Order: sequence, then structure tokens, then C-alpha cells
Amino acid sequence: ASKQRLLVVANRLPVSALRRGKDSWQLEISVGGLVSALLGVKEFETRWIGWAGVNVPDEIGKEALTKALAEKRCIPVFLDEEIVHQYYNGYCNNILWPLFHYLGLPQEDRLATTRSFQSQFDAYKKANQMFADVVNEHYEEGDVVWCHDYHLMFLPKCLKERNSKMKVGWFLHTPFPSSEIHRTLPSRSELLRSVLAADLVGFHTYDYARHFVSACTRILGLEGTPEGVEDQGKLTRVAAFPIGIDSDRFIRALELPQVQDHMKELKERFAGRKVMLGVDRLDMIKGIPQKILAFEKFLEENPDWRDKVVLLQIAVPTRTDVPEYQKLTSQVHEIVGRINGRFGTLTAVPIHHLDRSLDFHALCALYAVTDVALVTSLRDGMNLVSYEFVACQASKKGVLILSEFAGAAQSLGAGAILINPWNVTEVASSIGYALNMPADEREKRHHHNFIHVTTHTSQEWAATFVSELNDTIVEAQLRT
Ligand code: UDP
Repeated sequence: ASKQRLLVVANRLPVSALRRGKDSWQLEISVGGLVSALLGVKEFETRWIGWAGVNVPDEIGKEALTKALAEKRCIPVFLDEEIVHQYYNGYCNNILWPLFHYLGLPQEDRLATTRSFQSQFDAYKKANQMFADVVNEHYEEGDVVWCHDYHLMFLPKCLKERNSKMKVGWFLHTPFPSSEIHRTLPSRSELLRSVLAADLVGFHTYDYARHFVSACTRILGLEGTPEGVEDQGKLTRVAAFPIGIDSDRFIRALELPQVQDHMKELKERFAGRKVMLGVDRLDMIKGIPQKILAFEKFLEENPDWRDKVVLLQIAVPTRTDVPEYQKLTSQVHEIVGRINGRFGTLTAVPIHHLDRSLDFHALCALYAVTDVALVTSLRDGMNLVSYEFVACQASKKGVLILSEFAGAAQSLGAGAILINPWNVTEVASSIGYALNMPADEREKRHHHNFIHVTTHTSQEWAATFVSELNDTIVEAQLRT
């Protein structure tokens, strides 16, 4: 029998497209979490549907890009600049992202956002309908359609309205906030109702799923059951599917000569000092200032450690055109500068801060030589960096300090030291505890997390979601 087709719909396609001429495009695959997850799922024939991240105003360009993408099993949704501005920058990044992470808007943006809300929400619905149109064009009976993330909350409804038999799943990669937060959103009900049109709705953790169900009961007055949400006899299944990583890819990378060389260099560079590591996009949700202030407090209280530890912070630039993110960047630079001025010597500084991304192999080497990783997210859907660190620590068995507000705290809590990133005193003392931890405790904690990371992989996550979606539909048919 031929394989079941899986249409994966996400805002961004897993490729970046660079225009080379009137009708020629250069494509580069970006291996994010979702791509590696689905590469491992062999029982489906996967197609990707999404925006290629570029504005293509002309027909010749569109046609050429569509053709080039087809070779990578990708199907483009073309969004013009105005839609991208209102739907993506506006509604997705300026409204849903901060809200789902419990972040308030800066004071000066509040009124502006209130005024532009309706037009941005209209653009959001319009963009979601454009994704739906492309899905409908390519859909064949029996296909499974898997919609991803807060960009596409309107999509399940658009799809089901047109074809109630379509198998539709939706997965959220961010937290879903408490219903008290969700209810402040002017479009709160419409969004919930459109997500409920899906057959299966998935979240990273049980807490997020519970928040979603309570939002449906409190805001829509529907009935929540252990299975999901019921509306006039129709059940939408709601469940937790914690994502993982392709742990083998990391473990294999550590064997490569270039990674080994890089590790050797790093070890020599930081000989005699313990290495602490932070790897984050430079986003408000990551709690980078809180992390650095806690490290300062640790140095302040532990003068003996000052020349024996170094914090390497990789801060990957993101949304650099947004003033609030620019402000965060200069705030972080200022704190790092002050601390290095205060505790640095002529030959060494306590914090190495990098404002750029690293390639995969450099990142693996860094994970492998680290003694203590510090994840201080104020809110984070899962946080894959903590998983990747664990996967690379088979020989070092270093310590993970992990925010209780990251989804990963639900799965790596037993091996990590959990902290509240707002409590600088607690984080500073956890740093001391981690640096001084005896080998047998480190081994025990590492073992716990390593087993989890290598058994709960991204491939398993994707396979479980899709098979649960198929089962949900069979069960629904049995009920009627
Ligand atoms: N990452 C990367 N290059 C870097 C730093 C990070 O490719 O220089 C990757 C990292 O390997 C991880 C992802 O970025 O897979 C970050 O995922 P996470 O879930 O931790 O946070 P997000 O950025 O999705 O909020």
C-alpha cells in the first residue's frame, strides 16, 4: 500500500530562498526542530506548506520558486508585504507572542496596539485563509493535515468549513497561558472556536492543555472532559505531546574530527576554569538580564571563584528591527560591560557575550565542554537548548540549571536544578551548588535526563501526534 500523505502547514517553510535572477532561486534547507522531527517519520509521505519568507511580486518569480520548492517537497503560500506586516509582525509577533508568554506590552505601545488590533486581526484571518486555499488546492482524500503554531489558529476552521471530512490536527509550540490572560484578547472566542474545529489539539505540557480547556469552559461555556472539549456532542481531543530532539544527530556530531578539534581548542582556551553556558535567542522571554545579574551576584559573594569560572552567553539576534528588542540588546550589553569591568582582569573577563549564532558543529562542541548550563527563561514553550545540552554531555556529565517556567522543567525536572529566574538569590546559590556538585550526584542527575532525551525524541513525538490524530478520527466515527 502507498504511504499516507502528511501535509505539514506552518508559517515558515523549512527552507530559506534567495533570488538569483528573474527565474532562478537558491534554496537552503534549515534544519529546525520540526524538520528533523519529520525526517525521522518514515511511515508518511510528507509535504510542507508555508511562506518562504520572501516577497515575490511577479508571476515569473512565483512560478520559478514554486518549481524549485517542489523538488524539496515544499509548497509556497505567497504573502505580500502589507499582509506580512499586519499578520506576521503585527498580530503574531506583537500581540499573540507576548500574550502567550505572559509579557505585557511596553506602555507606549499599548494604545497603538489597541487601535490597530482590528485591522491586524482581519489580516491574520485573511492570511490564514490564504494558507487554507493552498492546502485545499493540494489536498487529496485521506491526507492528514497538521497545522502548526500560533500563526495558524484560524486555519482549522477555514479547512473544516470547506471539507468537514478532512483530518485536521493543530499543535502549539509556545505556552498556552492561563485563561485569565487569554480572556484579555479581544478575539479570544473566535480564536478558541477556530482551534476547536480541529480533530486533535496538542500542547507541549499538560499545564498548557489544561489552560486551553479552562479557557474553552470559562470563555465559551463549553464542557471540558478528560478527553478534551465537547460542543453539542462533538469532541475536540486535547492532549499533551512534549516535543524532543533528534538526539542521535548530536551524539554522532561529537565523534566528528572537526568537532573534536573544536572541543580541544575550547578546553585549552578555558583551562583551569569551569565553563558555564547560556544559548538563547535574544528575546525577552529568555530572561538573559536575570541570568547575568544572578551570575554577578554569585561572583560578588564568592571571590574565590572569580578567576575560576567563565560564563559564555550565545545570544542569537532576532527581530532586530523592533525597538523593544534593540533596547534589550543594549541593556544586556550594558550589564555585561559593567560586570566585566568590575570583575575582569587584564588577561581574563568573567562573561563572554556573543551577539550571533553558531553553526551546528560549533554549538555541539560548546555543549560538550560545558560544566554548567543555565536556562533562565521567564516563559518558554519547551526549550530545546536544555535537551541538546543533555544529549552532548555523555562524557562530561555537567549540571543543568533550568527555569521552572520552561516546558522542559516538566520532563527534565528530576535531573536538573530547577530555579525561579526572578529570584536572583536562588539562582546565584544554585550556580554555587552546581559548580561544587560531587561527581556521583552529577552522574545520577545526568543519567536521568540523558535517558529521557534519548528516548523521547522528535521522531517519536511526530509519530505519536499523527497516529493519535488518526485514532481520534476512527473513535469519532465509532461514536456516531
Ligand atoms: N541554535 C542554533 N544556533 C545557535 C544557537 C541556537 O541553531 O547559534 C538553535 C538551537 O540548537 C535550538 C534552537 O536554536 O535548536 C533554539 O530552540 P529553543 O527551543 O531552545 O528556543 P526558541 O529559539 O525556539 O525559542
